[in-house]
Amino acid sequence: MNKITILGSGDTLGTPVVGDHIQQIKTKRTRFGLLLEINGKKILIDTNPDLREQCLRLGLDLKTIDNIFVTHTHPDHVNGMGEFFYRKEAPIPTYHLEHPLINSHTDSFRYLEREKVLNFLAFENYQPIKLENGMVVTPIELNHGFPCSGFVIEFDNTKIGIVSDTNLKLKEKSLDLLNNCDILFADAFSEDLEQVSSLYDRCGITTPNLENEWFHMTISEAIDLQRKTNSKKLYTVHMSSFMSSHDKLVDKYQTDNVVVGYDLCEIQI
Ligand SMILES: [Zn+2]
Ligand SMILES: [Zn+2]
Repeated sequence: MNKITILGSGDTLGTPVVGDHIQQIKTKRTRFGLLLEINGKKILIDTNPDLREQCLRLGLDLKTIDNIFVTHTHPDHVNGMGEFFYRKEAPIPTYHLEHPLINSHTDSFRYLEREKVLNFLAFENYQPIKLENGMVVTPIELNHGFPCSGFVIEFDNTKIGIVSDTNLKLKEKSLDLLNNCDILFADAFSEDLEQVSSLYDRCGITTPNLENEWFHMTISEAIDLQRKTNSKKLYTVHMSSFMSSHDKLVDKYQTDNVVVGYDLCEIQI
């Protein structure tokens, strides 16, 4: 049985945010990651800083991971890479975007390559990668204000779209490739931009010009992306601490075709 697990559904800071964690916050979200178990192979999307806790909760042994794909090198997506420690028969292929910024960030983890634990392989957006389990992974350019890729994954007449960190202003080429996904995982950072301003206020940081310098989507924009790409089912991910509680988000947004994502949510395919 093929399966996808949302390892973490949270944003950069997680929910609750450290410092606010003394409040009674019902919803908990660890940082973003997905585990794909397809045709007998395990593929990990991102190595987030909560990977250790996610593995312990799920009973996942990292020695069983066959491939890793990195969306980008912001800390919430790669800082758990050090959890990989055991050398396997062959190092785990670890795919990342070929870009000077990404290359320099992955340098911190080169020791894992020297120890033959991981094998870093650079990809270019829009160049499909074929895996031995019959999966074809096509990286697509996102709009995150930093080099960042989404993935379109195809196998056995099934299409999965992964768009973790981006705003809605995507290139036509990316939108075309995302067309007709059976399942779309999309960035739903906030319910509206006021929540983003409140985050910046709380941190004492000047709010950027949210019209032009904001590189995530609201939950409504994630639903717009689902409509635009004619994708059958949407799972929202990369959600922030200042959104409503999970139950309230479900009441407000969940339908037969839209699922508010949560940690360790399992999707049978
Ligand atoms: Zn992120
Ligand atoms: Zn990011």
